[in-house]
Amino acid sequence: MYRVTFIPGDGVGPDVAYSARKVVEASGVQVEWEEKIAGEPAIEKYNTPLPDDTLESIKRNKVALKGPITTPIGEGYRSVNVLLRQLLNLYACLRPARSIPGIKTSFPNVDLVIVRENTEDVYSGVEFPPHSEEAKKIIALCEGKVREDSAITLKPISFYASEKIVRFAFRYALEHNRKKVTCVTKANIMKFTDGLFLEAARKVAKEFPQIEFEERLVDNMAMQLVQKPHLYDVIVTPNLYGDILSDLCAGLIGGLGVAPGANMGDDAAVFEPVHGSAPKYKGMNKVNPTAAILSAAMMLDYLGEKSASQRIEKAVRAVISEGKWLTYDLGGSASTTDMTEAIIDKIGE
Ligand code: NAD
Repeated sequence: MYRVTFIPGDGVGPDVAYSARKVVEASGVQVEWEEKIAGEPAIEKYNTPLPDDTLESIKRNKVALKGPITTPIGEGYRSVNVLLRQLLNLYACLRPARSIPGIKTSFPNVDLVIVRENTEDVYSGVEFPPHSEEAKKIIALCEGKVREDSAITLKPISFYASEKIVRFAFRYALEHNRKKVTCVTKANIMKFTDGLFLEAARKVAKEFPQIEFEERLVDNMAMQLVQKPHLYDVIVTPNLYGDILSDLCAGLIGGLGVAPGANMGDDAAVFEPVHGSAPKYKGMNKVNPTAAILSAAMMLDYLGEKSASQRIEKAVRAVISEGKWLTYDLGGSASTTDMTEAIIDKIGE
């Protein structure tokens, strides 16, 4: 019996998270769910988007299955997702993108994994508004290169965290029989920050001579991914590029509805789809549960329940390739619960 923290999230979060939970139950793995809230329901109840009780539960259980959570854009409280990753030191964000037969896309042969550094870069939350004392001090250091009415966001990248994420990527490649790691940066422009990430990658690559290593600049990488994604295997990259490229890769395989993810650290792991809370579909029982279900399959794999994980993935792929119970984003008219039930039936067959 595993004890797992279950966070439904907000927006479409509860629709997809409860679907994933039902599928795990149908797989036969015994899980005791500790249900906790975060995001909008937590603000209503406790006046904070991330209650201590929720954080403590993840620390205790070390594994969580989570639905997406809304972050106000351009104002309001900071992202609960980013906060969770920082507070639990979930330094590795793992986002596989694998083509699924039956989904209409120009790219039937994608099978790559994005390993995104999850704690640093411009997501560190160190920002200063225009005309603040801190912004003025930093601008003064910039010797006329920065306008006085600028806001400032810092982009810290450490050798320690860069080395750690690149080593994670190489180990992942070894353990999952992957052949190549591509390090993606913009080190031609950001010579100190991205340059440091690349330096760490080059150093770690030498420890893994059996895995091919290559380097790409992020702008070129974006173009390469939409022209020849089959050439890529494991991609390791700082936080912001990883965020953007993982949505791009989700697009290659059929959209955010089918893209799973995991946030992993040395002491805990939180599994969640790549997609956000898609507020316009809230409460409509309409969105695709696949991304959340495949995230739950990744969780079972992490827990050592490899056969249950594979059965879930196989059931998802079978339902999609049969094409009868598909949600709107895959060209069908099934509801979230219809598609979930079809996947559960398939697991039972
Ligand atoms: P989003 O991923 O929520 O949705 C973008 C679009 O993708 C949706 O409008 C919809 O058309 C499609 N989509 C998303 N999930 C889908 C699904 N399961 N099935 C079918 N189609 C789906 O991105 P957004 O609109 O930019 O962000 C909305 C909110 O989510 C923001 O507050 C953002 O901060 C938050 N967010 C949270 C997480 C997280 O909790 N990990 C991740 C990303 C964004």
